[in-house]
Amino acid sequence: MNRIEIKNVYMNYHTLSAETVALKDINFTVDGGEFVSIVGPSGCGKSTLLNIVSGLIEASSGDILVDGRVQEGYSDKIGYMFQKDQLFEWLTVLQNVSIGLKIKKMMNDDAKIKLEKLLKNYNLWEFKDHYPRQLSGGMRQRVALIRTLALDPEVLLLDEPFSALDYQTRLNVSDEIYEIIKNEGKTAIMVTHDISEAVSMSSRVIVLSKRPAVIKKIIKIEFDGENLTPLKCREHSKFRVYFNDIWKEMDYDDK
Ligand code: ADP
Ligand code: MG
Repeated sequence: MNRIEIKNVYMNYHTLSAETVALKDINFTVDGGEFVSIVGPSGCGKSTLLNIVSGLIEASSGDILVDGRVQEGYSDKIGYMFQKDQLFEWLTVLQNVSIGLKIKKMMNDDAKIKLEKLLKNYNLWEFKDHYPRQLSGGMRQRVALIRTLALDPEVLLLDEPFSALDYQTRLNVSDEIYEIIKNEGKTAIMVTHDISEAVSMSSRVIVLSKRPAVIKKIIKIEFDGENLTPLKCREHSKFRVYFNDIWKEMDYDDK
């Protein structure tokens, strides 16, 4: 199932000189297998929200529930992927995707077979002995995703996963990453400031206001064709309509 509920989440940061209210009464639910995006202006609290969902930081108040149970601290059920792929440059592709399993002392024959399958399925097996610097930006993101999937998380959190890539690469890589997440049947929450990316990949888009972030609107995305890839969604006539819907809600300073 892997349904996630975000309930009455508030976050205030306290520093010596100031208090920053980052999130105010955030409530939403993500169903098992769903791909939801969170958009909002820079600095509004998107990464804060994802960090709270992951259990890396604790909300000032409110709860995160996974399958109806309150989440306490960081859990193996949740995998996290960042803008920078954070691959270890001195390790090969195979060593990089194995590292989490090794640290957790979970490397065994089954795990090895599973890793081999993931690398083969997503066209990385022949690069298993390459180092990250020998790969393209898109391949690096695929390796990072497989490293996360190796620990078999039920939910994936993605924080601006494509923003370090140039535009053309970003389109293709978002297609590839989307396909992997769907194939593996994972629930995903992605943070992005790119409205097109959110519309092309998600079944719902949650729009946050500027800080302190409240939910301004939740927009359901439905393209008529079944199982359209993100690239195909971008070509759909309804794409513009959704884009404009979200654009209207976004608090850009220079709008
Ligand atoms: P986004 O990801 O939407 O760009 P963030 O969640 O990173 O925004 O940050 C939201 C706000 O909280 C910003 O004003 C930021 O400066 C502040 N903030 C983030 N992390 C901390 C922290 N550890 N201590 C104090 N303030 C923070
Ligand atoms: Mg951020």
